[in-house]
Amino acid sequence: MSELVPVVCPFCGVGCGMYLQLLDDGLVATLPSRNDPISAGRLCMRGWRAGDLLVNSQRLTSPQVGGEPTSWTEALQQASQLLKGIAGSWQQVT
Ligand code: SF4
Repeated sequence: MSELVPVVCPFCGVGCGMYLQLLDDGLVATLPSRNDPISAGRLCMRGWRAGDLLVNSQRLTSPQVGGEPTSWTEALQQASQLLKGIAGSWQQVT
């Protein structure tokens, strides 16, 4: 059995409509949407490979800091501090 999930390609601003086909064994196929007003049944090569993001064994599924798994709270605090540091440096230059 398979399921078709309508999605929008995340790779560029065109926003082509497509379907991710989820199969029993977890395989994902990408299919263009013929009814989508933007893509009208077409996808570029990048779009055709969009499903690969979901099955890539190297895909991050939780936040990491310094290569180590951590909580979202800790990761967001670290990112906030880094961005504040960058913003402070930028203000000193201008
Ligand atoms: S399929 Fe290609 S052109 Fe369409 S949104 Fe994705 S990357 Fe952009």
